[in-house]
Amino acid sequence: MSRNLLLLTIMVFILFLQTGRAQEQKPAYVLVIHGGAGVITKKNMTPEKEKQYTVRLNEALKAGEKVLKKGGSGIDAVTAAIMVMENSPLFNAGKGAVFTAEGTNEMDASIMDGRDLNAGAVASVRHIKNPILGARAVMEHTPHVLIIGEGAEEVAATNGVELVDTSYFFTQKRWDYYQKVKKEKEEAEKHGTVGAVALDMHGNLAAATSTGGMTYKMKGRVGDSPIIGAGTYADNNTCAVSATGHGEYFMRYVVTYDITALMKYKGYTLQQAADEVIMHKLKDVGGDGGIIAVDKDGNVSMTFNTPGMFRGYVTSESKPEVRIYKD
Ligand code: ASP
Repeated sequence: MSRNLLLLTIMVFILFLQTGRAQEQKPAYVLVIHGGAGVITKKNMTPEKEKQYTVRLNEALKAGEKVLKKGGSGIDAVTAAIMVMENSPLFNAGKGAVFTAEGTNEMDASIMDGRDLNAGAVASVRHIKNPILGARAVMEHTPHVLIIGEGAEEVAATNGVELVDTSYFFTQKRWDYYQKVKKEKEEAEKHGTVGAVALDMHGNLAAATSTGGMTYKMKGRVGDSPIIGAGTYADNNTCAVSATGHGEYFMRYVVTYDITALMKYKGYTLQQAADEVIMHKLKDVGGDGGIIAVDKDGNVSMTFNTPGMFRGYVTSESKPEVRIYKD
């Protein structure tokens, strides 16, 4: 009897230590970003290109971390990180967006606040310099969640968001690729969306995604990125997720919400939920892509079923870390 009591005391003590450690390990803040998933391999990358992506991803992490370090909100942090990537021609979002079959740029973006499930999104916009700011304007200044085209551009302009001529979005690289696809109609390196998720010092989660969509998409086609639950989701009770990949699959499988639902209703850990959705459900049907996520305890997941995904993270406890290939 007394031996059992001793054993029980030891077990309770171990449990106490572990709980303590788990709490101790919870970082004050976390930021995770992605710059798209796809056929990204060392073979089709030059050292210069690799360096350019690494520099820009680090810059995006720094911009978001600056906000979080000061005690700023997750929403401000993901906005800052996304804007750096939208302003870079390297990524398929904002400047550098891919071309539709008609040779135009039509961009989608969304943002979600895990505190109250408030969300905003824009789709098929052609003049908003930073589509993520358009999504924020919809969230903060309208009673709606998703506004498309000219309506979205009006909301943006009314709220002081910069509009630009369509020529701003032209990049030679995307144009050459468009011409190539037009000729061959082949499917190759087509992703490059950007995304960010954050846990701020107040325990709030936020997620945001911005994209030019898929090369040679039909005019008017909208992908998963501006769809809450498909490309973006945040809930303080579970996690914040941003996706990149073949949008049609991410919409049909309601990917970002599915991950939060597996955690909420089945008690999965973040990584178990991400593996189930990305590495099983999607992979089994040929839905290529990946996600970045952070849960309410600060655990990070960067899970993808493609050869590579531009990605990185930073926490209050660790320096920025950027990765490109599977490792
Ligand atoms: N998910 C985006 C879309 O389908 C594309 C991407 O992530 O690259 O529009």
